[in-house]
Amino acid sequence: MPEPLSAATPIEFLKGIGPKRAEALAEDLGIRTCGDLLFHLPFRYEDRTKFHRVSEAVAGPVQLQLQGVIRSINEVKQKRGSRLEAEFVDAHGDTMPLVWFKGVKWVVRNLPVGKPCVVWGRVSEFKGARNMAHPEVMTVQDAKSASALHPVYGSTERLGRFGLHSNGLGQAVKRLIGQLRDACGPSWIEETLPGEILKLRGMPGLASALEHVHRPADVNAERLGRFRLKFEEFLFLQLLLVQHRNRQTVHQPGPIFSKVGEMFNRFYAERIPFELTGAQKRVVREIREDTRNGQHMNRLLQGDVGSGKTMVALLTALMAVDNGYQACIMAPTEILAQQHHAGFLEMLGDLPVKVALLTGSVKKADRKPILAGLADGTVHLLIGTHAVLEPAVVFHQLGLVVIDEQHRFGVAQRARLWAKATIPPHILVMTATPIPRTLSMTVYGDLDVSVIDELPPGRKPIRTVHRTDAQRLGVFGFIRDQVAEGRQVYVVYPLIEESAQLDYKDLMDGYESLTRHFPPPEYRLSIVHGRMKAEDKDVEMRRFADGVTQIMVATTVIEVGVNVPNASVMVIESAERFGLSQLHQLRGRVGRGAAQSFCILMSDKELGKEARRRLETMCRTQDGFEIAEVDLELRGPGDLMGTKQSGVLDLKVADLVKDRALLEDARDVARRILKQDPELDRPSHGLLRAGVERLRASRPDWSRIS
Ligand code: ADP
Ligand code: MG
Repeated sequence: MPEPLSAATPIEFLKGIGPKRAEALAEDLGIRTCGDLLFHLPFRYEDRTKFHRVSEAVAGPVQLQLQGVIRSINEVKQKRGSRLEAEFVDAHGDTMPLVWFKGVKWVVRNLPVGKPCVVWGRVSEFKGARNMAHPEVMTVQDAKSASALHPVYGSTERLGRFGLHSNGLGQAVKRLIGQLRDACGPSWIEETLPGEILKLRGMPGLASALEHVHRPADVNAERLGRFRLKFEEFLFLQLLLVQHRNRQTVHQPGPIFSKVGEMFNRFYAERIPFELTGAQKRVVREIREDTRNGQHMNRLLQGDVGSGKTMVALLTALMAVDNGYQACIMAPTEILAQQHHAGFLEMLGDLPVKVALLTGSVKKADRKPILAGLADGTVHLLIGTHAVLEPAVVFHQLGLVVIDEQHRFGVAQRARLWAKATIPPHILVMTATPIPRTLSMTVYGDLDVSVIDELPPGRKPIRTVHRTDAQRLGVFGFIRDQVAEGRQVYVVYPLIEESAQLDYKDLMDGYESLTRHFPPPEYRLSIVHGRMKAEDKDVEMRRFADGVTQIMVATTVIEVGVNVPNASVMVIESAERFGLSQLHQLRGRVGRGAAQSFCILMSDKELGKEARRRLETMCRTQDGFEIAEVDLELRGPGDLMGTKQSGVLDLKVADLVKDRALLEDARDVARRILKQDPELDRPSHGLLRAGVERLRASRPDWSRIS
C-alpha cells in the first residue's frame, strides 16, 4: 500500500482485494476506488433479529435463521466433485440437514463444527424431508457483532466466484470502514456538506450516514443515513442546474424582439380561424416575455397531441419576422415538414411573409433560389427536416429555431443550428411527450418549461375500449360501419427490434387477413412499414391522407405527427406490447376532426399485471400527464423517452419516483442558497462549491441546448 488508505485509494489496495478482483469490481460494478465501494449501498436488508425453532421452520421462499450447533459433517463423493452434508441441531434437539453442492472444500475448511452457531437460509423439502442448501453459517460470536438488519448488496456471478457476493462485499466494506476509522477516528471520511445544511434538516455527517446505511442499528438509523445521502445527491444536482440556468439567462444574450408588429397583429386579427385557448395565450405571453429584452430563450413547450402547438410556433415565428429576423422550423420527418409548410401557407394567406420548404427531396434546381433567399433575407420562414442543418444553408439573420418533437434531434444537431447565427437564435422545443413535473425539473432543469394543458374546445373525447382476439369479428364489423360512413381507419402492429422478423410476419399476416375481410374494389388498403423505401412510404401516407385509401395498416412509423382529420378509428394490435406513451401517441392520431373517434386496443386474453394496468389506464383517461405519471410509476424514469441518454438520471442513491418530495425540497434549498450567493463564493459555501464542481466535471454534457 503506497500511503494511508483514503476514499481516493484504488480499490486493489484494500486488504483482500488485489488486482484481479479490482478489475472485476471495476468492470462489473464500476467500483474503482475505496470511495466507490463506500457508495455501493445495500439495496435491501434482511431482518436477522428473529430466530426460528427447527421444528417450526417450514419450506418456502423466505430465508430463516436458526441457532444451534453443527454436530457432524460428511463429505459424499459423487461422479463429479462431491457433496457436503452437515447435521445441525438446535437447543430443542431438533435436527436440520444442511447441504452444499459447490465450493465444498472451502466450506469444509470454514465450518465452525461443534461451536454455537447461527445458520441463515431457505428451507426446502425433498421427498418429504427438509433441508437447507447452501446456508450461511456464522459463529454466534460473529453474528452478535453483525448488525440486526443484514445488508444485501448487488453483485455478479463472476464477483461471486471471487468471494465477492453480497456478503463478501459487505465484509470488504466493513473492513474498509474499520481501517479508515482506525486511521482517522469518527470522521473517517471527509465531510461534503456544510454544518449549516446538516443542521437545517437534522442530518448526520457523511461518515455516520454511511455507517448507518451499511450497518444499521435499526430501521430508523438506516432511513436517516439514506436520507442524508439522497438529499446531498439532489442538492448538488439542483445547485448545478439552477446555477447553469441563472448564468445562461444573465450572460447569454439573445436576439431582441422588441415589438409586436404588423404581421403578428394582422395575422391575429384577420387570419386565425378560431379563438386561441387560454393555455395557448399564456404560452405566447411567456415567449413574448422571454424574447423582448435581450435574454436568450431556451424553452421547452409541452402540449398533448392536438393541443395546438403549431399555432404557437407560427405566432412566435411572426414575432421574429416583425423584428427583422428569420425563423426556422424543424420537423422530424419529410411528411411532417410538408404538412407544416402547406398548413402555414394556408394560414398565412395573402400576408407578405415568404415561406420556404427545404427537405432532402427538394431538387437541386429548386434549392438554389431558396438558399439565395435565406442568405439575403427575402425568405422569412424556413420549414424543413435535417436538411436545414447542411452547411450550404446560410441565414441572413436567424432569430428563432423551433424544433418539433424534440427527441428526434440530437445534441450535436442542435449545436449546428445554434452556430448558424452570430447571436444564438431563440430556441423553442415542442414535444407531445408529457414529462411529469419532477422529471422535467431534473432532466430539463436548465430549460424553461411551458405547458399547454388545455385542448381546443369542442373536441369529443376518444372512446377507448379493450377487445380480445375472440372479439375480432365484432371489431371488423365496426370498421366496416365506420368506413361506410366515410371515415378512415388505422390498424397498427408493434415493431420491436429484437423480434423484428416475427413482428414483420405478424404485420403481413394481419394485412392479408384484412384484405380478405375488406376486399377491393369496395375497400382500399395502404400499408407502411420500416422495410419500405422512404419514397414508397411517403406515397402510401399521402394516398391515405388524401382519402384514396380507407384503411392504413402500419407499424409504428406513423407515430409522429401526421394529420389526417378524417381518420376516426385507431386499432392497435398486440396492444399489450406497447408502452403507455406510445399507445397515447398512437391514439392521438385520431380525434382530430369533428367526428366521434375510437381507439380499440386488441390483445390476448391472458395479460400480465403491468400490461393490464397499461390498457386500463388507456381506457380510463386521455390526459397525457396522468398517463405519464402511471408510465413513470411502472417503468421508472430511466426508460422515459429522451431521458436515457441524458445521463442526468444516473442517480446513485435517490429515486426520482419515490423521492419526489425530497427532490422538490432540495431544489428549494438550492434556489435559496444561490439567491444569496450566486457563484457560491462565500467561505461557508466552500464545500457546496466543491461538490458542484465535482459533479460538473463528471458530466461533460451539461451545457446542452435541449
Ligand atoms: P399539436 O399540438 O399536436 O401539434 P396541432 O398544432 O397540430 O396540435 O393542432 C391540432 C389541430 O387543432 C389543428 O387542426 C389546429 O388547427 C387546431 N387548433 C389549434 N388551436 C386551436 C384552437 N385554439 N381552437 C380550435 N382549434 C385549434
Ligand atoms: Mg404537432
